[in-house]
Parts: sequence; structure tokens; C-alpha cells
Amino acid sequence: MNYRKKFLVEPGAKVRLSKIDASYTGKNETHEKALPKIQAHIERMDTLQYLLYADGSQSLLVVLQALDAAGKDGVVRHVFSGMNPQGTFVFGFKQPSKEEAAHDFLWRVHSRTPAKGEVVIFNRSHYEDVMVVRVHKLVPRSVWSKRYDLINDFETMLSQNGATILKFFLHISPEEQLARFKQRLDDPSRNWKISESDYSERELWPQYVEAYEDAMALTSTKHAPWYVIPANHKWFRNLAISQIIADTMDGMGLQLPPPRVNIADIRRKYHAAEREAKDGEKRRNKAAEKVK
Ligand code: ATP
Ligand code: MG
Repeated sequence: MNYRKKFLVEPGAKVRLSKIDASYTGKNETHEKALPKIQAHIERMDTLQYLLYADGSQSLLVVLQALDAAGKDGVVRHVFSGMNPQGTFVFGFKQPSKEEAAHDFLWRVHSRTPAKGEVVIFNRSHYEDVMVVRVHKLVPRSVWSKRYDLINDFETMLSQNGATILKFFLHISPEEQLARFKQRLDDPSRNWKISESDYSERELWPQYVEAYEDAMALTSTKHAPWYVIPANHKWFRNLAISQIIADTMDGMGLQLPPPRVNIADIRRKYHAAEREAKDGEKRRNKAAEKVK
């Protein structure tokens, strides 16, 4: 199944999250069958990241957005587990600091975008400025409503500078979220993850859904598409995302750069030196034999 096609939000299309089954797990797919596929995708991503780094002319930006407990951290931990930490960076965006809040909303994210050759993952992103900020009315409508165009311009600029951008919305149901909160309550090693605001934010579910639907309709573009990933099942979420990333990187036309030196010359020169060293050792050993 081509999840890159299936879960893509076509530019301009209206998304209805209530119509998308968060428990979807593909056709004839099972957890058992998916595991080796995920592993294969992760290995492809590893090879392609090596190419991206060597090629040095493009970059990859992966944006993860979701409501609480939908699994952003899990995606980072599992899907990116094969990538070389040298060249892969994760940045999380929480409530802006005083300094960040004193700047325009793109200031803090722009400095974290990938340089050529790099992969960057945003765990939350500039989209919070049209999500939580909109839902909680932290700025007036006249301010947040202009941000969709600003985001599109920003992402266009990044893309023109060689960035491939993938934006994933991890779609879980309210019931699954509550079950995950309960697991966090019941498991002492996960208690620290629970906050009162997780529960109060749940009350605003419809407002968040509306904000996400608008954001996806207004900012899914050819060069920075949104994907809605059914995420009630962690294994399926990992399968779909890893496939979409690996297939996208495959299409980036990444190539190893030509060598910067004349390989034949180097081989001749150092091969000769190596042979000489070996011959010298043989002569020394023979001489040593004679003296014995
Ligand atoms: P976890 O899944 O572990 O809870 P998290 O990403 O939810 O991870 P938290 O520390 O719980 O991390 O939450 C970060 C909070 O920061 C979120 O509620 C998010 O909405 C908020 N936030 C992020 N960006 C902004 C912003 N620009 N303005 C206001 N709040 C923001
Ligand atoms: Mg949280």
C-alpha cells in the first residue's frame, strides 16, 4: 500500500478528521507482518541519510504535530532510530520563552531549520502558533489568521533553499488518548509525563480539530505536504511514517558527490608505498635470519 498517496492532504482539500478512522491499520496488515517492513524502511532511511549528508545540497525537515499522547516522542524514538546522530537533530517547541515571545513567531523555528545535508525533526513547531495560540485566544484572530500565508511563504523559502518538508499529523481518538493518560497514571515510570493541563486540553478537542483542519487545508502544499496518520496503533503509525519518509527521500535524487581527488593516482601512490614497506620488511627479516 502506498501510504504517501493514501494519507496525503491534497493542496486545498478540506480535511474532515471525524471521517478518518484513527484505528485504521491498512489492508491485510498485521503487527507481526509490519515489523520487518518497518525495519526495512528504517534501513533505507539510514542509507538515504548517508547520501543526503554526502550530497550536501539538500535537507529534510520533518514536522510532527498532534494532540497530547498521540505519539510524537514514539515516532522520534522508533522511526529515526537508524539515522546517524551526526547529521540528525530533534528540536521540541514548548511555550515560548520571554525572549522567543518578544520576536516574531517564526524566529525561534527558523534558526533550527536544517542546513544542507541535515535532517531535522520538529517535535511541535510553528504550527502551535495557529493551534494552541488560536484555541486559547493568546493573540487576536486578526493576528493568527494572517499566519497561514506567512507559514506558506516561510516554507516556500525553505524549499527553494533545498529543504524537503514533510508534515505529519498523528491522528488519535479521544478514547485512545484517555487510555494512554490512564497508562501514564498507572505506570510509575511514566507518572512524570502526566499534567493537569492534559485533561483540561481534552475539553477543547473540537476546537483543536477545527484548528488542525483549517491549518491542513491552508498549508498543505506540493513542496510541504501534510499527511494525516492514523495513530491509535503505534506499529501502524511507525509503518506509515517510515514508508513515507523513505519513499520521499528516495525521490530526492540524492547522489554521492564525485571524489575530490584522483583515486587512481592515490591508489598508485599509496599502493606502491605499501608494497615497498612490505618488501623492506621481508628484506629486514631475511637479514635478521642470517645474523642468527
Ligand atoms: P508530551 O507528549 O510529553 O506531553 P509535549 O510536546 O506535549 O510532550 P509539554 O511540555 O507537555 O510537551 O507541552 C508543551 C506545551 O507547549 C504544549 O501544550 C504546547 O501547546 C505549548 N506550546 C508550544 N508552542 C507554543 C506557542 N508558540 N505558544 C504557546 N504554547 C506553545
Ligand atoms: Mg504534553
